[in-house]
Amino acid sequence: MRRGYLIDMDGVIYRGGELIPGAEKFFALLQERDIPFLLLTNNSQRTRRDVVLKMDNLGIHLTEDHVFTCAIATARFLASQKPGGSAYVIGEGGLLNALHQNGYAINETNPDYVVIGEGRTLTFEMAEKALQLILKGAKLIATNMDPNCPTDKGMRPGCGAIVAMLEAASGYKAFSVGKPNPIMMRMARKQLNLRTNEVTMIGDTMETDILGGLQMGYRTVLVFSGSTLPDTLSRYPYQPTLAVNTLVDLIPEVEQLPDGPWEIFEEENDPDEMQLVTTV
Ligand SMILES: [Mg+2]
Repeated sequence: MRRGYLIDMDGVIYRGGELIPGAEKFFALLQERDIPFLLLTNNSQRTRRDVVLKMDNLGIHLTEDHVFTCAIATARFLASQKPGGSAYVIGEGGLLNALHQNGYAINETNPDYVVIGEGRTLTFEMAEKALQLILKGAKLIATNMDPNCPTDKGMRPGCGAIVAMLEAASGYKAFSVGKPNPIMMRMARKQLNLRTNEVTMIGDTMETDILGGLQMGYRTVLVFSGSTLPDTLSRYPYQPTLAVNTLVDLIPEVEQLPDGPWEIFEEENDPDEMQLVTTV
């Protein structure tokens, strides 16, 4: 049995800047055994390098190819829909960098898209500009619809809250690429070079991590170290494959896996291959 992991960050690896005890042991084992894994985050603020540095400061030493963010998913999606397009962006470095790397230019006059990410840079003038561009025909894209984000000082409005304001003002609905959208969930699987039944999604949020994994047919593991408490789980119409307290509880199953690196999966034989339509 081969098994690779897509691992949410906030509430799974750390909470409010504090490492969840034992998370470092889980990552050390994955690396020691060469088991494929990716950090999968709906936070578009940080670049891959920023994420690696944050993890480094927590005592978990990874490389940039272990990181996949909704900013990268969004930029790749837009590049596949409209190569060489342009966007007006409300967001930070992680999103701007991903768009540039995928051939996108920033445009405040007549962009193809208005793209919204996480961040603290929003001003009313930016919201006004975004609205006017949407009304002129730019398509509204959300990196994710998370309504709020935990910080060291409590909650702050998330990308979904900013998007909701622009949807209300414009009358247009945004398209969101982040978890649970299958576009991001599938890109992550391809990055891991694994088949659908070889992927386990680990997360603390039912509406994104678990729903996203479930929709793709992945095995899902809910951890109770973040936003979902055991007594609220039964309220959901869908359930994870497994629920555990923290990542540490998954160490025994990783110990059972064969050592990597594994033979690369032939993508041509991928039964759920889906071509994204490219518009000109
Ligand atoms: Mg989380």
